[in-house]
Amino acid sequence: MKICVIPGDGIGVEICAEAVRVIDALKDIHGLKIEYEYGLLGGAAYDQTGRPLPVETLRLADEADAILLGAVGGPKWDKLPAESRPERGLLGIRKYLGLNANLRPIKVYPELANASTLRPEVVSGLDMMIVRELTGDIYFGQPRGIRTSGFERVGYNTMEYSESEIALIAEMAFRIARQRSGKVMSVDKMNVLECMQLWRDVVTKVGERFPDVTLDHMLVDNAAMQLVKNPKQFDVLLTGNMFGDILSDEAAMLTGSIGMLPSASLNVEDKGMYEPCHGSAPDIAGQGVANPLGMILSAAMMFRYSLGRPDMADAIESAVQTVLTNGARTRDIFQAGDRLVSTSEMGGLVEAALRRLS
Ligand code: NAD
Repeated sequence: MKICVIPGDGIGVEICAEAVRVIDALKDIHGLKIEYEYGLLGGAAYDQTGRPLPVETLRLADEADAILLGAVGGPKWDKLPAESRPERGLLGIRKYLGLNANLRPIKVYPELANASTLRPEVVSGLDMMIVRELTGDIYFGQPRGIRTSGFERVGYNTMEYSESEIALIAEMAFRIARQRSGKVMSVDKMNVLECMQLWRDVVTKVGERFPDVTLDHMLVDNAAMQLVKNPKQFDVLLTGNMFGDILSDEAAMLTGSIGMLPSASLNVEDKGMYEPCHGSAPDIAGQGVANPLGMILSAAMMFRYSLGRPDMADAIESAVQTVLTNGARTRDIFQAGDRLVSTSEMGGLVEAALRRLS
């Protein structure tokens, strides 16, 4: 197996090192044959090559079975022209690889339920998966722009989905639901938008091919409300690009710390880029206080969805659970009575738990 590792900028470098440490431990314990190739992206790439997404990185990504990414960006590069900014590199590699599906598991470990802004009994034990379409919808639809009409300007965008785009992401959601509790909630706005009437129609048709999965539909405004009222009613939540953008951030906050959240972005061949949900956190970069668990759990997703080793994913997730049960906490999830640990100590504890559990 070949993994393209892209640490990126800021805390990306620190947390990526911990994910690699965990993968190294799995190599050691289970004799896995995994090679790493390190790629440049974002500000680090701009500093070394003058571009946020060097061609060499695309070549490495092409050759790899999966890509593990830390994070990109930081104030140092904020004043660059748009095409040179780190975030442009990130969007570029996502587009190049055709990553149309974004998977974001939202899991609240009972030990961390107090870190949420919602009452612990509402979120404790929450375990859901958001499946968001990533390359279509109003973010990409044409025409778009700002035109002048009479004496004023008018802004416009186009919400657009083809049947094939909807079918692709729906199939992904149903396949994932089969590996979980067999429930899909599709979120749309079909009462107002024709595009979303098509969404519901196509999702329903795809659902007929998965009779073992229960499909329900919910309007997006209600879904936003239900996510904070009773999030545990959801298992797989399927949605388009814009609604998914908003709902996934809302759901992320149910967990209390963005540092805990992994994500996967997959293309139709299940090649994927795996990264934590957060950014490069320049405010804490270089201090050794960043939480590496979102990154380590992203590596777990990589084993499950791109490398065909769900057993390795389970092993990493159990090790993380063990470390949390034993009370180790980085600063972002620390509460009185816990044991405060640094980024690398946390990585070391996950490695030690992996070795013990195996
Ligand atoms: P951020 O996610 O980097 O940080 C938001 C807050 O969360 C900060 O207070 C930070 O310290 C904290 N935080 C984030 N990750 C943490 C972790 N693992 N452990 C502990 N605390 C953590 O968002 P931001 O500050 O808005 O953005 C900083 C930079 O990151 C910007 O340049 C932005 O463009 C970029 N960014 C990159 C990505 C990505 O690479 N996927 C995503 C979002 C933002």
